[in-house]
Order: sequence, then structure tokens, then C-alpha cells
Amino acid sequence: MKNNLPQLEPLTSDWMLNIIQDTQLQKELFEAYQSPLNIHNLPAFEENCKEYQKVLSTYGFKSKVFFARKANKFKNLINAAISSGIGVDTASFRELEQGVNLQLNPDNLISTAAIKNRKLLKLAISNRVLIVVDNEDELDQIFEISQDLNTKAKIAIRISGFEYKGNKLMSRFGFDVDAVEEMMLHYFKDSKRQQFNVEGFHFHLDGYSTGQRGEALHQTLDLLEKLNIQGFNFSFIDIGGGILMNYLKHETQWIEFQKHLKDAVLGNRNAITYNNDGLGFTIRNGTVEGKLATYPYYNKQSKGSFLKKLLGTENKSHKPVYQRLEDLDVELRLEPGRSLLNQVGITAARVVHRKIDARGNHLIGLEMNMSQLKSSSADFLLDPFVGFQNPRPDAQPVEVYFTGAYCLERDVLLKRKIELPQLPEPGDTIIFVNTAGYMMHFFETEAHLFERAINLAVAENKTRYQIADFEEES
Ligand SMILES: *Cc1c(COP(=O)(O)O)cnc(C)c1O
Repeated sequence: MKNNLPQLEPLTSDWMLNIIQDTQLQKELFEAYQSPLNIHNLPAFEENCKEYQKVLSTYGFKSKVFFARKANKFKNLINAAISSGIGVDTASFRELEQGVNLQLNPDNLISTAAIKNRKLLKLAISNRVLIVVDNEDELDQIFEISQDLNTKAKIAIRISGFEYKGNKLMSRFGFDVDAVEEMMLHYFKDSKRQQFNVEGFHFHLDGYSTGQRGEALHQTLDLLEKLNIQGFNFSFIDIGGGILMNYLKHETQWIEFQKHLKDAVLGNRNAITYNNDGLGFTIRNGTVEGKLATYPYYNKQSKGSFLKKLLGTENKSHKPVYQRLEDLDVELRLEPGRSLLNQVGITAARVVHRKIDARGNHLIGLEMNMSQLKSSSADFLLDPFVGFQNPRPDAQPVEVYFTGAYCLERDVLLKRKIELPQLPEPGDTIIFVNTAGYMMHFFETEAHLFERAINLAVAENKTRYQIADFEEES
């Protein structure tokens, strides 16, 4: 059973391939910036912004897109977002502070931080940045601070707990949609209200269902109608992020991969993952149970088409969401993170050593660690590329695992076993593509005092990049 590892070929932009093919450039980049390296392409980010704007412009309602900054820490993306005409959704004090220090128009900033300390609330209120409120303690603090600062606070109310197909979509975030009306009527009944501009509703759902988001929008529109009759002035609904993107070239490979993985877990074929990890699949009484616990890397519906589908969701009277937004003159806001980073980044690491373990596995040691390519789900499932300094057309293919620098048995960078056309050598480059959304540094740590990877950007698409084309964080 050789040479039958399932492949997962990633969608790969020309700018990425141009770097992947240039082993001299890779060498120079590592000499200048160490390994690993995260490289971003700003035009690709701008393209994604345009795609959303284009889809939204076909509707009759107002809209605004915010980039969910937490999906990528690289500062240069902020200016790219602003120059593309979108805003920035911030999830912490420092994310907000960066935006404020760049003197962005406050209308282009929003704070959705899960935990908002006094310092953050003060910064937001004094700079007239809209705060998405999660709970009543926050409201109380905002009230106090805005009184002290003698400034009205701009807020939106985060809600959750929507009903979908007979079930409540539970969440730890926001006010329960079934209790929020009473809370609002009670909280804002007296002079307290003078300290607030209550401008909109906000939700961000887990998972990737267009139906759930459409249904949540309808329920939020119902609530908005009810409260505006009672004297409120809600003008927007922000639907958060979670818009799918597609990473893979072929749906067939995605289906095949899952079949092979189940077979391996059952022991019907040789392992395709380290220690035969089921990535969510387990066996009980001889059958496979569970679900693949990774991001759904293949998607027919993604970005613009996902948004369109969501907006077409009809309510019981067969009115689509987009029609109600238009009729009620409600602005739609969204905060995509991952999907705005589609095709925006790659992570490159230098090969340091090769070895063969007691089971006969080839282990390729890379100058990086597991926190530098860490998915919030069970594995990063895209086939990597190799820049071979000495390509040998007559070489035999090898199956390998990539291992990292942390002194943990589990620092295996991809759980998947990967087939390569030849055994990599020290100094070769392993390149992981499409890593900008969450993968490259969301979970990055400095354990063992390793320094964090340097982030670079290219501002143009070129067939041949020079080292001077790479900008550092500004
Ligand atoms: C994480 C998050 C987002 C972005 O989600 P993506 O899945 O990256 O699009 C947007 N809004 C809020 C409030 C979030 O927590």
C-alpha cells in the first residue's frame, strides 16, 4: 500500500506560486528575517473587500463591512482595509488603540471585545467608537464613564439564543433574544437613556449555516420593529462573521480524504495521520463515529455567494431578508475575518533535519513550532509546497511528517502524512499556503523564548519578487 495517500490540493494564487518557485528568494528571505516567515499579499485582501462591496451594491439597502482584525495580527492590513473603504472590528484594547493611533475615522471602528475593562471602555467612549454591549454590567460601566467624560456612548446590543428549527442556538455571548426587549424597556426607561445612542443590534453565530444567519436576521428585524415602535431608533443590524471560504481545488479530494481517514481509523488501510489520529472520527464496536473536527476546507458556497444565499432567506410570509432590510431602511453590517483573508497569506519555514523514527516514519524537522500554524480545529488540511534547493527529477517519492521546535511529543505541525516527490534537505523550504486567516499566528506563543515569526507584506503582484519588495510591519 504505497503511494496512496489522499491529496488535498489547495487553491493557490499566482503570487504564492511565484514565491514558491523562487528558492533563491526564499534563502535570502530567511537570511534577512529568520524562519518561519508569514508573507501577506495586500492586493488579494483588497480584492476580497471589493467582492463583498460588489455583492452588497446589488441590493437596495445600506451596508458596511468591517474587517474582524482578530483573524490576523499584522498591522499593515488595517490601512489596506481603510483604503478599500471598509472599517475595522476590534476585539481588544490594543486592537482598538492601534486604530485610534492611526487616527481612523471613529465610524470605521467598532469594539466587539468579549471582555471590556474600564480602560477599553474609556478609550472607545472618548473616541466616539461604537461599543457592542454584551451584558448589563457593561451597560452600567458605560453609563458611568460616559457621564464622567460628559460624552454620549454609541452602542449596539449584542443578542443570541435565536430559535432555529425548534432549537435554541445557545451562546455565552450577548443578551438572550427572548429577554432583551424587557431588559431594554427597563434599562432605558429613565434619564439614563440620555447617556446612550443605541444604534443597532449585533450577533455573531458559531458554525457556518446560511439558514441560521438568515433566520437570526429575521428574528432581529422583528425585535427591531417592536422596539422602534416603542421609541428606540435602531438603524443597523451587524451579523458578525463566519462567512465561509473555500480552500480546496477539488471536491472529490475532500470526499476521498474523509473516506481514507475513516478506513485508516478502522484499520482497513495504513495510517494517513500521525498516531492514526481520527481528527474527530473514532471507532466504537467496529464502526466509525463522530464528525471530522476540522474547518470544512471545501465549500461550494463561499464569500459573496454565501452572503447572497443568506440574504435570500425567507420568513414565514416568504419575504427575503434583503427585502425587509430595504423596506425598513435598516443598514446591514458584517464583520468577516477569515474570508477577507482568502488567498492573502503564506507561511514559510526552513528544513533543519530529517530522521526516521522507530516505526519507519520520515520526520522532517522545521524551524518553526506548532503555535505558528495552529488551527482552532483539529488540523490544517492543505498540502504544503516544497522549495527544493536541489531538485532531483530521478528521486523517489517519500511520505513524511513535519515536526516542530517545542519539546512536546505533539508538536507535529500537520497531523496528516504528506507525500513529497523527493526527501527534503536541510535548507529547503516548506511553504503552507492560505494561512492568513487564524492559522499563521492566532495562537502563536513564545514558549522556550522563541521569537514570534516576522510578518511581511508585498504591495503588488509580480512574477518575480526581489527582497526589497517585502515590507515589514509599519
Ligand atoms: C471572530 C469574530 C468575527 C469574525 O469571524 P470570521 O469567522 O473570521 O469571519 C466577527 N465578529 C465577531 C464578534 C467575532 O467574534
